[in-house]
Amino acid sequence: MQQSCNMQRLLSEQPSTSSRMCVGRQVERTPRRGRQLASHDIRREALERAPEHLADTFSAQFAPITDVKAKRPPKETYSLDEVVYKASNGDLLDVVHDMDALAQFDAAHWRKVFDARVGTTSWPYGSGVWSKKEWVLPGISDDDIVSMFEGNSNLFWAERFGRQTLSMSDLWVKQCGNSHTGSFKDLGMTALVSQVNRIRRLKPGSISAVGCASTGDTSAALSAYCAAAGIPSIVFLPADKISMAQLVQPIANGALVLSIDTDFDGCMKLIRQVTAETPIYLANSMNSLRLEGQKTAAIEILQQFDWQVPDWVIIPGGNLGNIYAFYKGFKMARDLGLVDKLPRLVVAQTANANPLYRAYQRSQTKDAHEARLSDLEDKYEPIKAKTTFASAIQIGDPVSIDRAIMALQESNGIVEEATEEELMDAAARADRTGMFNCPHTGVALAALIKLRQRQVISPSDRTVVVSTAHGLKFTNSKVDYHSKAIPDMACQFANPPFSVKNDLGAVMDALRGQIGI
Ligand SMILES: *Cc1c(COP(=O)(O)O)cnc(C)c1O
Repeated sequence: MQQSCNMQRLLSEQPSTSSRMCVGRQVERTPRRGRQLASHDIRREALERAPEHLADTFSAQFAPITDVKAKRPPKETYSLDEVVYKASNGDLLDVVHDMDALAQFDAAHWRKVFDARVGTTSWPYGSGVWSKKEWVLPGISDDDIVSMFEGNSNLFWAERFGRQTLSMSDLWVKQCGNSHTGSFKDLGMTALVSQVNRIRRLKPGSISAVGCASTGDTSAALSAYCAAAGIPSIVFLPADKISMAQLVQPIANGALVLSIDTDFDGCMKLIRQVTAETPIYLANSMNSLRLEGQKTAAIEILQQFDWQVPDWVIIPGGNLGNIYAFYKGFKMARDLGLVDKLPRLVVAQTANANPLYRAYQRSQTKDAHEARLSDLEDKYEPIKAKTTFASAIQIGDPVSIDRAIMALQESNGIVEEATEEELMDAAARADRTGMFNCPHTGVALAALIKLRQRQVISPSDRTVVVSTAHGLKFTNSKVDYHSKAIPDMACQFANPPFSVKNDLGAVMDALRGQIGI
């Protein structure tokens, strides 16, 4: 009951003053929607609502992923306040929540709490990530949170693309790229930078700056959140391999940008060496704090479907942290009873950076699908990734391979791939129905088209394609496609503009020629 009492106080706008208030289940007060006079700011309001000492009602810590996978109590754990990226034996770490504490509250309670926070301006719940705070980083003080009210992205019914291209009636696109820096990386970065902000307060001098290697979107998100908090950021980018829009974001946000003459995997190796020797904190997705934020997109999908589980969720995969993050979000919602099953997950890789797809193919036998998933580990080998329009997933040696394999095995998942032509065509076809897709979303859409053609996904299956970045970040490739300027590509859905003289007759001729008026 003590826990429950704390919980009620944590969630209500003011701390309870009488112990009688903790008897029985209290109705939570809805966070305020309209904002009154700014007599004091929303951080202060949050502090008054949730005194710091109540923050330990729920807890989370780092534990090795191998223990999580084996479903056994971890041998080794670390506080989230420690600067640690890997277990002593080199295993990836995972943030493990005190599920018993969370399970003291029933599913109806959590649904109600989460639903009441959507779209408010209450600090920090106005964020789609922090509206799930107890499931994300429960121990962090509201005052340490660095947020730009990310998340809460729209999940829309892709009616015309679904019907005309795929004969599907229940196709949805989760627009995670409609976000502060234009990609879903914001979801994870708010979690990581908030925790860094906390550690810098608890242990002054322990972290001088935050660094990452990036294919573009991570550096944009890192530099924006660091700039919002006043924390120095450093980004290592592969020279000439990212879009101008991605490059200019960290520059504009004041990050120290090193453009290095190598690929992503090369940048990753360098940043790992640098962060091992300096008080620069590593922000790459090997750092499992980010996945805690990323996973909220999965919970949000369930919430947007009024806690119904879709049949399929298709996610483009590069470093493969996100496939695990989505799995983790769905799994937490299932384990705490908010939903009763997991969706089947599809990792979509570009054919130019497809180490997981190759492992999946190699383990293909005449046996059942499950048998195929069970030896993915043995069949996996890193590759040298080739250039792709889907530059954010041009990764040949994904850091989170172990986590991704676990997510596939537990969700009866599938791996699909898309060539450059397939991904550009898929993006262009969907654009013709009103979308404006980035190439990574193109990879997921191409995977969907193939799975429909093979009848793996059936016409009435409720399917969600995760759109990971905003198309406006990747206009170069689209301009080349529509100009038919891509070597060895038919660009069959190109819609090039016509050059017409400044003359009514010429304009009329062009119109007659094209649309037969
Ligand atoms: C990071 C990223 C991905 C892939 O996420 P991983 O965790 O690296 O697999 C996909 N699309 C975009 C736009 C990204 O920025």
